[in-house]
Amino acid sequence: MGMVGFYAGSFDPFTNGHLQIVKKAAKCFDKVIVGIGHNPEKKERIDRTKMKIAIENVLKYENLKNVEVVIYQGLTVDKAKECSADILIRGLRNGTDYEYEENISEVNEEIANMDTCYFRAGDLGYLSSSIVMELYNNNAKIDKYVPKAVAELLNSLR
Ligand code: ADP
Repeated sequence: MGMVGFYAGSFDPFTNGHLQIVKKAAKCFDKVIVGIGHNPEKKERIDRTKMKIAIENVLKYENLKNVEVVIYQGLTVDKAKECSADILIRGLRNGTDYEYEENISEVNEEIANMDTCYFRAGDLGYLSSSIVMELYNNNAKIDKYVPKAVAELLNSLR
């Protein structure tokens, strides 16, 4: 039995920053599950079923054979356990991310006995889904910031 990591997020949309974290995680774990969750604090911008298909196309293009995508509702730890994941994965861009993530991670450890593994954003740490949407909504090019299949999806919705 290998190690399975569960990378949860809104991925609304999935950016090159998210892809970089997936690539790092796919090298470390036997299997990585990208979980598109529903954060009631954030309004869904792009249809999650469409985003799932776009992410699957990115994974195919990048030849990431040990990564799959699921959509879920409710608690991340519940879905992660259902998927037989051993550990949660998150990306860290800066100190603000760290403070935010640590609170969630501590609760997840407490309620489900699941630890979290952080990967560094590095040079893509400036990138966020909201910056991409800001550009997109103002008709600026987004192709540099998201994988090709995601850019195609977004551009098809214009
Ligand atoms: P959430 O709503 O759960 O914060 P996001 O889709 O915004 O979902 O982010 C999912 C995860 O990816 C978070 O751990 C976040 O810190 C991380 N992340 C977001 N953007 C980047 C980036 N540019 N580089 C690395 N990690 C990132």
